[in-house]
Amino acid sequence: MKILSIIGARPQFVKAAMVSAEIDRADGVEEVLVHTGQHFDANMSQLFFDEMGMREPDYNLGVHSLPHEELVAQMQAKIEAVIAEVHPDWVLVYGDTDSTLAGAQAAHACGIRLCHVEAGLRSFNNQMREEYNRIQTDKLSDVLFVPTRRAILNLQNEGIDDSKIVPTGDVMKDAALYFAQKMRKPQVDLPERFVLCTMHRAENTDNPDILKELLLALEMMCNSIPVVLPLHPRTRQKMQAIGYPMEQSPITFIEPVGYLEMLYLLHHCALVMTDSGGVQKEAYFAHKYCLTLREETEWMELCARGYNHLLGHNHVNIVSTAQMILELPPLFADDLYGDGHAARTIVETLMK
Ligand code: UDP
Repeated sequence: MKILSIIGARPQFVKAAMVSAEIDRADGVEEVLVHTGQHFDANMSQLFFDEMGMREPDYNLGVHSLPHEELVAQMQAKIEAVIAEVHPDWVLVYGDTDSTLAGAQAAHACGIRLCHVEAGLRSFNNQMREEYNRIQTDKLSDVLFVPTRRAILNLQNEGIDDSKIVPTGDVMKDAALYFAQKMRKPQVDLPERFVLCTMHRAENTDNPDILKELLLALEMMCNSIPVVLPLHPRTRQKMQAIGYPMEQSPITFIEPVGYLEMLYLLHHCALVMTDSGGVQKEAYFAHKYCLTLREETEWMELCARGYNHLLGHNHVNIVSTAQMILELPPLFADDLYGDGHAARTIVETLMK
């Protein structure tokens, strides 16, 4: 059996590290790994392959930095050419990026069976590009690997046949557990106690008023506790565009870190603030409370348990909630997102 896996963005490298390793261990399964090129900076791409011991992609399509429609169209055309060359039995896509949608559409156009890892997640915010990508990809998928009960309900509500839905747990939990032993301190001066923040969603960075409001919240946080922020290239670019004076800011900006360094930061911080999908769960895996700088989340079970709070972008709300949460004792139960063997379930299902 031959699986053509499509990756292209940072969170997909983390997920693929676990699934590709499982495919390698399985008898009679071959993987052809395609990197679309969506993320291309060394610290957003190559670093992950090096740190997590992943083999180099078989194809790098080199498609990036284009408007959504053009990006997807170019990726799709190139993935279709790879499909014509390697004749896979399955195309496997991860998550909700433009690379995901391009892979899904290419599989559909070529009549190849499609499976989607991290299917069924919904924010119910139709303005998000990611929401569009997820819904379209789920519609085209033959097998939908879901990480949560809520994801199953979402798919059922959309009329997706039960026979296509396979609960697996979350491959990001697999990765967080597996790599926790290997985490390492980033090569930066870290305060003893700090808030870890990541921010890159278009909804937050592309609107100057929202971006300024969030930066103001983080600056105010720095009056009581340092804020360490590994800076996503998109956010850096948007901050430069609004003329944000980074050198004078009290926020500790650092370069994006590798996954092993990110695990260290997650395990050693006092609190996580983020608009990332993956980091919300990783905060929970590291037993840290998370304040989500968005109005909605795909991971509502974390909010229901009080591990995660949706704060939007109002600076007063963010700062006052953070100060309150920083006082809380860390009381966490590890029962969400499976048992750390989601990747195994995925590969075994495909082999069946
Ligand atoms: N991440 C990382 N270094 C960083 C920031 C994030 O390794 O400087 C990891 C993070 O731990 C998670 C993944 O990147 O595994 C999440 O990616 P991102 O936030 O870019 O995407 P999202 O999850 O929002 O789709």
